[in-house]
Amino acid sequence: MERFDAIVIGAGAAGMFCAALAGQAGCRVLLLDNGKKPGRKILMSGGGRCNFTNLYVEPAAYLSQNPHFCKSALARYTQWDFIDLVGKHGIAWHEKTLGQLFCDDSAQQIVDMLVAECEKGNVTQRLRSEVLSVARDDQGYTLQLNGDSVQGAKLVIASGGLSMPGLGASPFGYKIAEQFGLKVLPTRAGLVPFTLHKPLLEQMQTLSGVSVPSVITAEDGIVFRENLLFTHRGLSGPAVLQISSYWQPGEFVSINLLPECDLASFLNEQREAHPNQSLKNTLAMQLPKRLVECLQQLGQIPDVSLRQLNSREQESLVEWLTHWRVQPNGTEGYRTAEVTLGGVDTHALSSRTMEARNVPGLHFIGEVMDVTGWLGGYNFQWAWSSAWACAQALAE
Ligand SMILES: Cc1cc2nc3c(=O)[nH]c(=O)nc-3n(C[C@H](O)[C@H](O)[C@H](O)COP(=O)(O)OP(=O)(O)OC[C@H]3O[C@@H](n4cnc5c(N)ncnc54)[C@H](O)[C@@H]3O)c2cc1C
Repeated sequence: MERFDAIVIGAGAAGMFCAALAGQAGCRVLLLDNGKKPGRKILMSGGGRCNFTNLYVEPAAYLSQNPHFCKSALARYTQWDFIDLVGKHGIAWHEKTLGQLFCDDSAQQIVDMLVAECEKGNVTQRLRSEVLSVARDDQGYTLQLNGDSVQGAKLVIASGGLSMPGLGASPFGYKIAEQFGLKVLPTRAGLVPFTLHKPLLEQMQTLSGVSVPSVITAEDGIVFRENLLFTHRGLSGPAVLQISSYWQPGEFVSINLLPECDLASFLNEQREAHPNQSLKNTLAMQLPKRLVECLQQLGQIPDVSLRQLNSREQESLVEWLTHWRVQPNGTEGYRTAEVTLGGVDTHALSSRTMEARNVPGLHFIGEVMDVTGWLGGYNFQWAWSSAWACAQALAE
């Protein structure tokens, strides 16, 4: 039976980076994946350009039942360290918005970089590998694969979450955690579009494709200022993806569709200057025409001139457009979610080594654990930082 210092399960962002670093530190590493190619999610990410980190990474941008857990790894391997590595590989990048860094050319460059780093660490890679069982004894971990068995003194679970099952996502990591007595917190789709109840969805069908700047607020008070996109299934766009991670079924979100305009003052000024101008045309100066027409058909915008708009109507219009309360029907689920919230409970793990405190040699890194970042490169940074922390421990 072939023996390794460490076996890493999952050749995604976290697994590849951890395997490469441990290999470069002198460990004999085996990297396993059930897919045909490594880094499949990286290739899909950031619209094919991979939003690989964020300039403003900070622990507050991560959701977890144990909010302090991510601090150590994020502080020890930072966005600047990863930017440095990307630079060493000659990958050109740019900031798109809000500190989000993307490759100028293609996400393939990040995968190629990780493959090159794995080669530098002499990592043995086995793709299309199903792990049938994992057993632990004094020697470490014995894995039954389809075909043969392998042994590793240490085992790293980097099998990710449940989002995008088409890209190889599986509950494997949760099952291993449970097998070794670790708690797995309930999982749900995060960074995911909202679906709407049928009557509202039907009323808004004509808006599919319309995008507006917005400020969106969850019931717990968390606020995001980003674009909102109407779709044929409901609501999407960065604002909605962000708030979806903080939303629980049955809750409402409040949406300001005019965050950059003091609507009451704008209407008063316009009324002074052009009293006979229609309310609809006035609002179309601030909002997409299709949205104004739809809202008028729904009865939210009275068919009047500015002069005819009475103060009660104006107040309720301003209230509606700046505090639109929506109760989503649900989310699009794991099929389109970018991440999985919940997962392996970090209370049982060391934040320095990512090792299970009661199961020596068993480590969890990346999305499989209960650490989920905002949209914008935060999730990849968690993959890099947790992988780095784990690799240091493997090499010790
Ligand atoms: C469409 C999309 C776009 C995204 N864009 C961004 C972005 O631009 N920026 C950002 O920060 N985050 C983005 N994310 C989130 C980011 O991709 C993940 O958070 C990140 O990939 C997690 O890394 P990971 O290594 O933990 O898991 P993954 O990258 O998911 O890797 C897990 C690996 O484990 C393998 N695996 C699973 N089960 C088994 C098993 N039983 N046996 C063997 N192997 C197994 C999988 O095939 C996979 O290769 C995006 C996600 C999606 C779905």
